[in-house]
Amino acid sequence: MQSRRHPAYRGDQVFEWLHGHNVTDADKMTNLPAALRAELVSEGLTPPAHVAEVHRSADGSQKLLLELGDACRVETVLLPVTRTSDDANVLVDDDDDDDDRDDANAEVAPLAGARRGPATRVSQCLSTQVGCAMGCVFCASGIAGLKRHMTAAEIVSQVTLARQLLGPDEALRNLVFMGMGEPLHNYDATVRAIRILTHPKGLGLAPRRITVSTSGLVPEIDKFGAEFGGKVGLAISLHQADDAKRSALMPVNQRYPIRELLGALRRYPLDRRRRITIEYTLVAGQNDSAEDARRLARLLASLTVKVNLIPMNPIEHSSLGPPTAPRVAEFQASLHGAGLLCFVRRRRGDDVAAACGQLVLDGERPNARFVSRQPRG
Ligand code: SF4
Repeated sequence: MQSRRHPAYRGDQVFEWLHGHNVTDADKMTNLPAALRAELVSEGLTPPAHVAEVHRSADGSQKLLLELGDACRVETVLLPVTRTSDDANVLVDDDDDDDDRDDANAEVAPLAGARRGPATRVSQCLSTQVGCAMGCVFCASGIAGLKRHMTAAEIVSQVTLARQLLGPDEALRNLVFMGMGEPLHNYDATVRAIRILTHPKGLGLAPRRITVSTSGLVPEIDKFGAEFGGKVGLAISLHQADDAKRSALMPVNQRYPIRELLGALRRYPLDRRRRITIEYTLVAGQNDSAEDARRLARLLASLTVKVNLIPMNPIEHSSLGPPTAPRVAEFQASLHGAGLLCFVRRRRGDDVAAACGQLVLDGERPNARFVSRQPRG
């Protein structure tokens, strides 16, 4: 605004309209002088992305395929959590914080009387890169490699566009940086996006409602912990408790083996009421044995963590698949028995391929390494 010879506070006002009220039409920014509104309208507040496709799943989740200015495509997923008693017998976690256990319990309790707040809380999964350089062999985003980093504006626009699709009874509750890309590989844009999303004049989301998921970039985990004082949640895609096996699944493990990764988790300046999330995708015959569960429990014994077990989403063209439900239950019971907090994540949006990278990559072929290293067990 100053470079346009307007007072600096006009910048605050435009920021508030854009990020606080989700208004992108300058004509509706009523506290701006008419001349400035006309200036913004004529030059256009060009959004950095638009919704190209919306895929609605039978389970209520929605996958948005977004097109960026250069025609690159990324995806973001909206996962509504309605307070019903449907899941009363299933121990699940909806990405709520540990200090929010009452709300999590409310989700699985029968409805009684008045509800608190909106009936449907929505978690949104955000992408940070077009493709991904990390090359995890189980992940559709890793197949095509990294095309480019997303800008902070593009990352934030996923939230802006999703908010326009929310119904009156829905509220955005949690953001998880767990879509396409490795957020800490695109460190500066990820941090800037979080600062915008948590800004009190913008969406004003509490940092504890945001979780950043990483494949294990140790120096960046340390830097990120210092950046937000541990207030932003951290999730680790672990998936294996053995170095050789993890390196075969996730090449990043060759640079930062499990021992170094666990060191970074111990140093992460986490609030004492919170836990780091360990994501463990269960792949039949690969990492779901009784010995795998025991090794994982030993590894995590001294850490303040919760474990999310995620039965793998089927990927077209892949020979890999999820374990049976009884096998998943045995694995969970084994971790519980060892004293670990452990949840089975519901697989959502199978019918719209709502796992990272799958929609954008629809039609692409997996590479030979992917097929040959991971025969179905
Ligand atoms: S799992 Fe995450 S880090 Fe690994 S290739 Fe996929 S998007 Fe990248």
